[in-house]
Amino acid sequence: MTDRPEWVKCVLLPEDNALTWCARQLEPAEFAFTSIDHAALNGKHGGRLVACSGCVRLIIGALSRGIAVD
Ligand SMILES: [Zn+2]
Repeated sequence: MTDRPEWVKCVLLPEDNALTWCARQLEPAEFAFTSIDHAALNGKHGGRLVACSGCVRLIIGALSRGIAVD
């Protein structure tokens, strides 16, 4: 967590409230987006925080499975 800007935040998996899409265990008191919706709406509205690129890549992969992506 120390090697990235403080405004980059992971996205939690729904199955486990401490594990992120990019397979990190949250640090105590670490902020994370609580769902894909939370991260996506934050991005849509131009929020200050930005979703972790590892989480985003895995979410897009999951959403795109079986779909031809240009
Ligand atoms: Zn992440």
